[in-house]
Parts: sequence; structure tokens; C-alpha cells
Amino acid sequence: QELIKRLEQTIENIPDFPIPGIQFKDISPIFLDPKLYEDVITELAAFSKGKIDAVCGIESRGYLFGIAIAVALEVPFILIRKAGKLPPPVASEKYDLEYGSAIIETREGQIKKGQRILIHDDLLATGGTTEAAAKLVEKQGATVSQFSFLIGLKKLEGHEKLKKFNAEIYNILE
Ligand code: 5GP
Repeated sequence: QELIKRLEQTIENIPDFPIPGIQFKDISPIFLDPKLYEDVITELAAFSKGKIDAVCGIESRGYLFGIAIAVALEVPFILIRKAGKLPPPVASEKYDLEYGSAIIETREGQIKKGQRILIHDDLLATGGTTEAAAKLVEKQGATVSQFSFLIGLKKLEGHEKLKKFNAEIYNILE
């Protein structure tokens, strides 16, 4: 539809960044166009309206839209960060990367038992980061009800990894 077209015209494809062979999608031009940003938030908020009790955003580009979705829906926003950035006490989850591993964390107690959670990030690729975030949410006794992304790359691989959470998945662009 029209929003998809406007986003495709705005997001920049940068070849060989951050390493050769990777095509990087730069979403930063969206923020130069407040009306476009607002329409993206309206779209993402409509997907989650009435279905969630809180939004978890994944560092760092997941914050750019995640906070606005939470404010639009009048629900709490919780930061999921890379290890070492949040003060204790934290809950953490380790996950594998292509080379090595990483840890993500959230402030202990901010995700409440029984809450229906939306996990949001700007972009889904292999799904590794999002999968770890979902495990972290479930460990707090909450339910992952939805995932949303601006862009769902490698849709099959990413969606495959997220299937086990039985949550709705939405992305504006593929
Ligand atoms: P995954 O864990 O699904 O393989 O990678 C997704 C994560 O990497 C997201 O947090 C996303 O922000 C980041 N990412 C990977 N590739 C890109 C890209 O081309 N553009 C942007 N904006 N983020 C990317």
C-alpha cells in the first residue's frame, strides 16, 4: 500500500556495510520526515492495540519506534539492552552469534508475571536477537503475545525461529 511505497523510497540500502557482502538498511531518513514516522507508529500501534500489556524494545533501533508504540497504546515500555549497560539487578539471556555469543539484559522486575508482551525491533534478520529477547521475557513469567518489526528480512529463517513462541508476527516491509 501507500505507506510501504513511501518507506521503500525513504530507507537507504547501503552495500557492504558494516562488512563486505552485507546490504545494510538505513532507517535513519525516516526521522527526517515526521509525518512518515507518525504514520509508521500509527500502523504498528494498530497491530498491537488491545492485545498487549507492555512493549519490550530491543537495543538500540528497537527503541526508536518501540517507545512511541507504547505511548500510543498507553502501556509501559521496557528496555532490553546489551550486557553491562543496565544497573543491577538485571535478568539476562545469552545467545549465539555467527561468531561467538552475546548477552542481553533487562531490569529485574520491570516485566511483570502474566503480562502480554509485544517485542519490537526495527529489523528481523536471522531472528537470533529477537529469540533471545523472547526467552528473556518468558523467564520473567510473562507471555510473548506479539512481535513487530519495521522490516522482516529473511522472513522464513526469522519466522521459523520465532514460531515456538506462538505469537503473532507483523512487519511492514519485507
Ligand atoms: P538478527 O538477530 O535477526 O539476525 O538481527 C537483527 C538485529 O540486527 C536487529 O537488532 C537490527 O537492528 C540489526 N540489523 C541487522 N541488519 C540490519 C540492517 O540492515 N539495518 C538495520 N537498521 N539493522 C540491522
